[in-house]
Amino acid sequence: MKVRAELSGTPAAARAALMAKRILVVEDNDLNRKLFCDVLKAHGYAVEPCADGQFALDAARSFVPNLIIMDIQLPNVSGLDLIEAAKKDATLRTIPVLAVTAYAGKGDEERIRDAGAEGYLAKPVSIGPFMAAVKGLVERVS
Ligand code: MN
Repeated sequence: MKVRAELSGTPAAARAALMAKRILVVEDNDLNRKLFCDVLKAHGYAVEPCADGQFALDAARSFVPNLIIMDIQLPNVSGLDLIEAAKKDATLRTIPVLAVTAYAGKGDEERIRDAGAEGYLAKPVSIGPFMAAVKGLVERVS
């Protein structure tokens, strides 16, 4: 009751910031990364972009996101390997991962889910299904 009263007394922006869920966007393509981040911010999420997969796990450790959006095709490192590494990491394993991939080949979704991703979208990604997948995964766990 008391907390509620104090929260309702804060400015709207601060209140929104307090409640904003955090999403780490790992995507090397500049246009896709900006699109994902802009759409997520427009829906009230706090976003951390990561253009280089080699820094993705460190970024996840410091940003502590509620969701990781993971491009699979990255230079120098595979998004699949990053997902597997995150799922073996005691502090990162509980963070849901939404994989996005340009591959259309049969068996890709299975490989991605085997790596540990909770969600999967094939590129090109439409905003509707993207936001539905994001909301589903972010609201899923506390
Ligand atoms: Mn890529």
